Amino acid sequence: MSDQDIINCHIHTFTNDHTPKYYPHPVFVVFRWVPGLVRVMRRAAWFMPWAHWHSFMVRIEAFHRSGNRKSQAAIFDEIQPYYPQGTKFVVLPLDMAPIGHGPVGRDIRHQHDELAELAGRYPEAIIPFANVHPDNPIAAEEFRRCVEDLGFRGLKLYPKMGFAPDHPVLMEEVYPLCADKKLPVITHCSRGGVARKGWGKVECDRVTAPFAYKPVLERFSDLRICLAHYGGDQDWENYIDKGFHPDNPAAKEGNWLWQINEMLTCGDYDNLWTDISYTIFRYNKYAPLLRLLLTEKVKDCDRTILDRVLFGSDFYMTRQESLSEKAVSIRLRVELGEDVFTRIAKKNPLEFLGLPEK
Ligand SMILES: [Zn+2]
Repeated sequence: MSDQDIINCHIHTFTNDHTPKYYPHPVFVVFRWVPGLVRVMRRAAWFMPWAHWHSFMVRIEAFHRSGNRKSQAAIFDEIQPYYPQGTKFVVLPLDMAPIGHGPVGRDIRHQHDELAELAGRYPEAIIPFANVHPDNPIAAEEFRRCVEDLGFRGLKLYPKMGFAPDHPVLMEEVYPLCADKKLPVITHCSRGGVARKGWGKVECDRVTAPFAYKPVLERFSDLRICLAHYGGDQDWENYIDKGFHPDNPAAKEGNWLWQINEMLTCGDYDNLWTDISYTIFRYNKYAPLLRLLLTEKVKDCDRTILDRVLFGSDFYMTRQESLSEKAVSIRLRVELGEDVFTRIAKKNPLEFLGLPEK
């Protein structure tokens, strides 16, 4: 097991050509017309009296630089120096055409084809997943093409972009194919990120909450589903900074970190997983709690949380944060210890992805 390579279960390589023209607001189209504007803003921030403005703009500029790359290969090139040779990456595309923020330059078919070509160039390093947005009329057929013709190895979902996890297209066509081919599913589970135009917090939370997956997990009990981001920054922050008053059980039960832990250990959902992508980039604040969750024995439960957590980073979304990919993985390795790190970054991903051990 010791010579097993790290598997980063959650990265992105889509470019601005794959994001809607007017996302997140029509006024942002100016950054497409004048890509150098972010650099000008970063330089201007240097003269501001608040030091954090400049460091914030440095990170935003790095994020824009990645998104502005002309190809997925160019973005993939950026992540490689942060990891040891031999690391594998699960690459997650996104179909943002149906979310109401204007047209995309290149559609999901093109995005999948480009990713398939990239995976062909790095067959040892890239594990490509296909994305389904059920509002795209070709979604189910395109997913089948990715699996059967392009050799894709899993499904990526992002319900906040406008659909419930038990949408009929998913329940009747997409999940059955995943179950049949034993393909894993990674789905966005954080209150942050991209949302369908016009959707507020209520609609987004309704389709993103961990408990929203219960009908799927009950119908497809063999399907391996990973709730990405472990519930997300806001719920980790509430868990730590506010806590839960015993007279108000609804507050605890509404917390997504609590919901995921509950589902991982209740014994009803054997094939449920979570990943720590993005959330763990608030490293100083959350690493001690992660260590506790991964090392603690849960009362009256055979399964530990450690059995079901995956390492992932969410590159290049993490360009908006101050720690680099390498800094986070080194710190995690030290904080968690070699055994726990090996478990979440090597052994668990193999099981989730259905890959053989070396
Ligand atoms: Zn992501």
